[in-house]
Amino acid sequence: MLPKINQNKIILFVFILLILYVWILSVSQKMNDRDLNIIWVCTQCKQSFLFNSDMQDHKTCTGHSRIHKFDLLSGRMIDSIEMN
Ligand SMILES: [Zn+2]
Repeated sequence: MLPKINQNKIILFVFILLILYVWILSVSQKMNDRDLNIIWVCTQCKQSFLFNSDMQDHKTCTGHSRIHKFDLLSGRMIDSIEMN
């Protein structure tokens, strides 16, 4: 005799697992994108970014091109990006 299983509960459970899986995937992708010791600062509007992708988005959205890359530990500028 099989125990009576509520099918709706199983579907709900699988659905929640799927959402969790997609969420973890997106978070880990975001974390890989981040270099922990680096911060990007736009010299045109003084905004700072922790993620390379956020900095790229900022460049495409605002057209700002003078962005400096800083090492958080030493506080020194590593690189200066100027794009036309
Ligand atoms: Zn900017």
